Amino acid sequence: MSCSTPLVDAFDRRISYLRLSVTDRCDLRCTYCMPEKMKFLPRKDVLSLEELHKLSLAFIDRGITKIRLTGGEPLVRRDMIELVHALGRKLGDGLDELTLTTNGTRLAEFADAIADAGVRRVNVSLDTLDANLFQTLSRRDRLADVLQGISAAQAAGLHVKINTVALKGINEAGIPRLVEWAHGQGHDMTLIEVMPLGEVDGQRVEHYLPLPAVRDRLEQDWTLDDLPDDTGGPARYVRVQETGGRLGFITPLTNNFCASCNRIRVTATGELFACLGGAEKVDLRAALRSDDPDAQLAAALDTAMRIKPERHHFRIADGEAPAQPRHMSMTGG
Ligand code: SAM
Ligand code: SF4
Repeated sequence: MSCSTPLVDAFDRRISYLRLSVTDRCDLRCTYCMPEKMKFLPRKDVLSLEELHKLSLAFIDRGITKIRLTGGEPLVRRDMIELVHALGRKLGDGLDELTLTTNGTRLAEFADAIADAGVRRVNVSLDTLDANLFQTLSRRDRLADVLQGISAAQAAGLHVKINTVALKGINEAGIPRLVEWAHGQGHDMTLIEVMPLGEVDGQRVEHYLPLPAVRDRLEQDWTLDDLPDDTGGPARYVRVQETGGRLGFITPLTNNFCASCNRIRVTATGELFACLGGAEKVDLRAALRSDDPDAQLAAALDTAMRIKPERHHFRIADGEAPAQPRHMSMTGG
């Protein structure tokens, strides 16, 4: 297919990866992500299925080759599977990969349909295998559903990567067991440092766990072989000799990964955020709903490329406000 002007930012980074949040709503309330009484957006502000589809096609036309659907929890949106199918039809026709990030609670119901649409890989967030701790962390008793969802995804032929936020004194002690379990099931796994986005009920700083310390701890028992960077993403991978599996580390706080950034994020209301840690944004909903959506969208994407900052400036420290007031559930990680 012919592609209009590719998306290249002011630092000569080619933007080829879109993370599209389809809803800010969620059926869990992870303590590091959102407060118990999270206020969700009015439904009228959220892009319709048709708008999400049109937007995605405009991005593909500008050289976006990978789309990740995220949220909030993408699978709580009722027409989500229709979008997955519609975008699945672009695979091989501009789109190289369609994927999603989910908490897994509804994956058992949708795994077959997702695989049928052409999705090959999903990321499932799982911070613990302990049902009580899962309930404390997510404020919902849903571990069994998530494990069932992961099994269903695997049975449907989807490659599953487990994403785990490392939290000091909370799931820290269970990390080796989670790695063993994930690798034993044939899943890759990635550990993530908690990021200061949006107000939550407690203090994130108390539970911030730098991943270099986790790596040191794992190396007391295991041999970790560095793998070459081949994902184009922020994770740095190792092979754990003892389990045979791949383990990734996403370290936005201890090791900045912005120089090779190839991505942009769009919220469910059509705000394009040029950087996960920044405030720079353009309003794609206004463009979509204007009299000349094609021209307005093209102009908005050009603006996004001009304003994308060189790097984020996350800091996590006592008493410090979040780097951005919006929660991770707005931009989907
Ligand atoms: N609900 C889906 C899920 O949990 O996978 C998709 C959206 S969720 C916002 C995407 C990822 O962001 C999850 O892996 C979650 O653990 C992570 N996350 C949420 N808040 C975070 C924070 N403040 N710092 C680091 N990761 C966070
Ligand atoms: Fe929901 Fe994902 Fe945030 Fe947990 S991390 S509250 S599952 S959006």
